[in-house]
Amino acid sequence: MRDLAEKIISGNRRSIAKAITLIESSRGDHQDDAQALLNELLPHTGNALRLGLTGIPGVGKSTFVESFGTMLTAKGIKIAVLAVDPSSQITGGSILGDKTRMEELARDPNAFIRPTPSKGTLGGTARYTREAMMVLEAAGYDVIIVETVGVGQSEVAVSNMVDMFLLLLSPGGGDELQGIKRGIMEIADLVIVNKADGDFENAAKIASSDVINALHLMKPKSENWSVDTLLTSALNKKGLDIVWQKIIEFKNAMQKSGEFDSKRSEQIVSGIWIELNEMLTDKLQKEHQQKIKSLEDDVVAKNITNRQAASKILNSIVR
Ligand code: GDP
Repeated sequence: MRDLAEKIISGNRRSIAKAITLIESSRGDHQDDAQALLNELLPHTGNALRLGLTGIPGVGKSTFVESFGTMLTAKGIKIAVLAVDPSSQITGGSILGDKTRMEELARDPNAFIRPTPSKGTLGGTARYTREAMMVLEAAGYDVIIVETVGVGQSEVAVSNMVDMFLLLLSPGGGDELQGIKRGIMEIADLVIVNKADGDFENAAKIASSDVINALHLMKPKSENWSVDTLLTSALNKKGLDIVWQKIIEFKNAMQKSGEFDSKRSEQIVSGIWIELNEMLTDKLQKEHQQKIKSLEDDVVAKNITNRQAASKILNSIVR
């Protein structure tokens, strides 16, 4: 693992891919290797700007990431893209992974794109994302984009792992905010209305002012930042530089106020609790299955309350 870590730190792409495959694997020995590897990489992590990007299918995420990403690599900025799509675990088909995406960026030596893991649990998504980001940071990527499908399953989890969360909308017919859950609006640091071109241009402006109105009604996420909306055309590569400027502005404001570092510390601590919860659930399911089953039956039969059952289960593991 030390050898693999050295190759990753030197930026070797095959080694990065191999490491992420280890992280994705549910095999016990792979998990042990992954943890040993991450331990080697730890001192080299934390240096990238971590961005979350979400939007419902069809809004233009791939096109945006392709155009935005190639603009950044042209500036000499190394960019990595992680797709996270828990829907693929539920339906068996992936919204993010099925089509050939971001072909130009995929060929760019300064970019690394990792499609969504094909299997795993919803809960495992959080760990996968956190650990894959560590590998990419150690490999020297400056910007990491974590892309999700905007259907509400993983956005909140991802927003707890990134520095800035971007919401991509497009001017559809009627209510632009339809399909995007309020909870997702609340976690956005920047709203981008894409497809602001041709026939869509006016609709995009209307959508943008709808968003601004909706944002006014919400409690600000941070006292150090007011959420803005920007118009882009990912297809025509318009407005992308302004998005990048906004991101830098956000980063500077957060760093100046100290919120950047305090948020990262909070994220690390909450990461421990997420791991602990998962480990406990796993242990309970594996080692206390019978006892839990009989307590479940007791609750269904109205012999004891939910809380009493939970408390009995807890007592049995604590002992
Ligand atoms: P995703 O599902 O969110 O990844 O969306 P895609 O990037 O695959 O884009 C969906 C469709 O919208 C494709 O046909 C794109 O060509 C189109 N599209 C993406 N961005 C733009 C844009 O800025 N303007 C216009 N007019 N079409 C766009």
